[in-house]
Amino acid sequence: MSRPDPRPVFRFAPSPNGLLHLGHARSALLNAEMARAAGGRFLLRIEDIDATRCRPDYEAAIHEDLRWLGLDWERPVRRQSEHMDAYRAALERLEAMGLVYASFESRAEIRRDVAARPGWPVDPDGAPLFPFNRAAMSDEERRTRQAAGEPYALRLDMARAVAVAGEGLSWRELAPRPATPPSGGRDEDGAAPVTADPAAWGDVVIARKETPTSYHLSVVVDDAAQGVTHVVRGADLKAATSVHRLLQRLLGLPEPLYHHHPLVLDGEGRKLSKSIGSESLRDLRARGVSAEAVRGLALG
Ligand code: GLU
Repeated sequence: MSRPDPRPVFRFAPSPNGLLHLGHARSALLNAEMARAAGGRFLLRIEDIDATRCRPDYEAAIHEDLRWLGLDWERPVRRQSEHMDAYRAALERLEAMGLVYASFESRAEIRRDVAARPGWPVDPDGAPLFPFNRAAMSDEERRTRQAAGEPYALRLDMARAVAVAGEGLSWRELAPRPATPPSGGRDEDGAAPVTADPAAWGDVVIARKETPTSYHLSVVVDDAAQGVTHVVRGADLKAATSVHRLLQRLLGLPEPLYHHHPLVLDGEGRKLSKSIGSESLRDLRARGVSAEAVRGLALG
């Protein structure tokens, strides 16, 4: 019997729904650098569950841009679209625990309902919490509508899930580089505990109407399947870690260490994104910026 590989495992997990920008470069380079410093492995994972937005040319561009930055990663690359069975199995476990229910409401219906409730709470991303909870419809009616072929998403019954998961849900957040010496509250590896608050997200979608999974579910299933020990990603995903820790506990999956790095902001202090026309790595390259300069900009 071979012994398990003891090396730490890092991953960069972009979605091929646009071209990479400096924010992605920061994540990818930080992961690769931390893996190298720890004598660990560096993986690339393609998060392509959204068939309507992901495109093969963007996926090819990810490989090309990362190679241009001087990165290399293990093969084969895991593509989420090839692992729907694994997500379905995890979903079935949550269903068997009674933690999931079908939800038929459209986004427009949710928006309309919430508009009529001033002061309705929002999740950490600023979206209104799901306003129709499980008690709003009988299980029987849900089953009838499912059987009739009505499209539905599956949502996590957050109150029940939190109760089943039990007390003390938290994660360990690694200090920013350069590693600070251990002090008050920090472990020897420079990690400090963060209390998870999954309830802040309400009844999150765990499987979308058009695909039998969601970002939250596939990310925890994949991190476990790939033996990821260190999740290094942008600060915009820090709050989602609460949901990930909840799912890991419910599904009996191991807990990685986390590090959420500061986002790269544009001149107006906005997070980079395709929707606001942020320059892609490709644009930078086309106007003659060297890979070395981009590495400096991304990590600086
Ligand atoms: N696919 C996610 C994104 O592109 C990142 C997922 C993660 O690192 O956990 O934003």
